[in-house]
Amino acid sequence: MSTDLAPPAPSTPSTTAAGAIDATKVYGVGDAEVRALDGVTVGFETGKFTAIMGPSGSGKSTLLHCLAGLDALSSGATYVGETYLASLDDKALTELRRTKVGFVFQAYNLIPTLTADENIRLPMMLGGNAGDEAWIAQVITAVGLKDRVHHRPSELSGGQQQRVAVARALASQPEIIFADEPTGNLDSTTGAEILDFMRSAVREFGQTIVMVTHDPVAASYADRVIFVADGRIDGELTDPTSDEILERMKQLGN
Ligand code: ADP
Repeated sequence: MSTDLAPPAPSTPSTTAAGAIDATKVYGVGDAEVRALDGVTVGFETGKFTAIMGPSGSGKSTLLHCLAGLDALSSGATYVGETYLASLDDKALTELRRTKVGFVFQAYNLIPTLTADENIRLPMMLGGNAGDEAWIAQVITAVGLKDRVHHRPSELSGGQQQRVAVARALASQPEIIFADEPTGNLDSTTGAEILDFMRSAVREFGQTIVMVTHDPVAASYADRVIFVADGRIDGELTDPTSDEILERMKQLGN
């Protein structure tokens, strides 16, 4: 596929924040070949919270990494906004990840020597952009970190560290946030707080979030749940309960 074409035009402008078209990712060669993604076509609507679920090894993380420009496809295409990622050189891809994409990982990935406030601002500072001060203050307040911003990560609980990571992802007002098992290291109460906040970032601030999880309760916070099995999309549910998701996962053999 030519990489200088625009992604498929949605029915109204910018209703799709990111997506994949016939995305295939093959690891290894010969007998060791693994098709981690096997022709995935999916779009993620702007202003929605989407969860990607599937059994272990089904290709969820590979899909997320390829959508976010952290890994390259073997064939097919991924796009963020109007941009096909394969059309970008390394420099442009780095710039896109810094300006248009936010990340939240299971391991909070904070810099230990920087305060919460500095961690939140770091990605923007690296891009030579101070960010929108009023917005950053709003995010810090919303995430409940106002009296913790001068603490270093080691002085914060796991839940507070993940709040810093979510605030960092939101601070630059990216087109889309990709979250990979963001509550995987947290107890269920703290995890629920983070998921509540992510959902309110979508509902109140219009943020777009795509989250990989294997936890049906975490996925039930999403507006839409997409199921992946053997590197392929295997159905979806809209506004499902955790029981409905669990039932669907059982059918997928997890
Ligand atoms: P999930 O996130 O659903 O657990 P992954 O996307 O991590 O699944 O992996 C999908 C498949 O690709 C698995 O079979 C996994 O072993 C394989 N895989 C993932 N990353 C690599 C890699 N770097 N090298 C080889 N195989 C890989």
